[in-house]
Amino acid sequence: MPDITNKSLTEIVDLIKKKEIKSEEVTNSYINNIKKGKKLNSFITESFDNALTKSKNFDANPNYELLLPGVPLAVKDLFCTNGIRTTAGSKMLENFVPSYESTVTSNLWSEGAFLLGKLNCDEYAMGSSNETSFFGNVINPVKENTVPGGSSGGSASALAADFTPATIGTDTGGSIRQPASFTGTVGLKPTYGLCSRWGIVAFASSLDQAGPMTKTVSDCALMLQAMSGFDLKDSTSINKKKENYSKKLTKDIKGLKIGIPKEYRVSGMPNEIEELWEKGKKILKEEGAEIIDISLPHTEYALPTYYIVAPAEASSNLARYDGVKYGFRSSKGSNLIEMYENTRSEGFGDEVKRRILIGTYVLSSGYYDAYYIKAQKVRQLIKNDFDNAFTKVDAILTPSTPSAAFKIGEKKDDPISMYLNDIFTVPANLAGIPAMSVPIGHDKNNLPLGLQLIGKTLGEQTLLNLAFSMESKSNFKQKIIKWWEK
Ligand code: GLN
Repeated sequence: MPDITNKSLTEIVDLIKKKEIKSEEVTNSYINNIKKGKKLNSFITESFDNALTKSKNFDANPNYELLLPGVPLAVKDLFCTNGIRTTAGSKMLENFVPSYESTVTSNLWSEGAFLLGKLNCDEYAMGSSNETSFFGNVINPVKENTVPGGSSGGSASALAADFTPATIGTDTGGSIRQPASFTGTVGLKPTYGLCSRWGIVAFASSLDQAGPMTKTVSDCALMLQAMSGFDLKDSTSINKKKENYSKKLTKDIKGLKIGIPKEYRVSGMPNEIEELWEKGKKILKEEGAEIIDISLPHTEYALPTYYIVAPAEASSNLARYDGVKYGFRSSKGSNLIEMYENTRSEGFGDEVKRRILIGTYVLSSGYYDAYYIKAQKVRQLIKNDFDNAFTKVDAILTPSTPSAAFKIGEKKDDPISMYLNDIFTVPANLAGIPAMSVPIGHDKNNLPLGLQLIGKTLGEQTLLNLAFSMESKSNFKQKIIKWWEK
């Protein structure tokens, strides 16, 4: 049987629908790859038995009307899966088996997909390199000594290595777009509220959003349609009809106005990123879009604002891990307070503790007005910048990241340089607007680089169309030599 695992999700769905391949064969092909790819450490939990049973059930009773008929999918280990361990990359949840299913995964399963396994991620999705995971760091399949980005690093790695035909991640400050950029894949953070947060382990609730990570833009449209939708169980879910993004996907972008924000030209940015940006502009222009210089004046405050708001919300969300209700409990301590203290100091890793400390500090009386309230006000100014820009343009084009994938260990002990990675991605989360990363080129070391498209609230279709057009014209090809199979 020819290898189908390097095909796109759309191609695999077509083969299944045309009855040229069975779901069980597809599933076995991915399982085979995963077994040979342990070195990448992209999986925390495998659910092969579940996948094989579901694929056989599908083949015995197929429904080709579904969006993802008989498709095996591995997902970030931040989505709760009923009966299958969900760790959030933390020792705290090492043995946590949810008795419920997240809305997003349940939407995927209703469309005919099933779970292949749970993918590694930074602990509680806090990180940009997948080095904060309790289950060890993940390796970028593109190059052995490099990080896949984070926090959805396991998702990006597994996707690029052909361990899953598509995947999902979460993006609080860039965790879908940055790893997509680092691995030469497509990643979309939808409008806040488009995909339900119910059943996703919470990091910073006003920023968290789930989204697709795929090999192609068409796959991204398909996944977004399958996973999104109104959910009564999430009070911030947007009540609107599901969109058929694939049907409306077009490369015709004539007349669209694309903003280039001058504030995204940061000092110290490698020339290659600048060149990539120019390449993106050129493609869009040639395809009939109009390029317009714009200003987003509060951009420089986005990163500090994010690193106040996100830890503040995290410190509140993570208060629930007390060793009593669920999760890890320390056996040390002779009274309740000591049990809490030991549980939290043994159960959480360093980065999570750092966030809890920052968050507790900025929320404490005396500092609340100076930090938290101020950050909320600046957040509004950042949102206003985008609102103003979108009176003139339909979308904004920027680099996804200030550099290509860095080496394992390079930034691990320097939190500030790690945080600086998120400089281009956090503004969209603060404003709640959609943004996606599209692979466009490579740096001098042949590492992939992505460009980011930022859109208006619920402007996902425009982003997908722009990305579709850029994808077809960029000539980006990611050749991965499967060095880990040797
Ligand atoms: N790297 C950012 C952080 O560590 C974003 C993480 C995310 O989007 N989950 O907070």
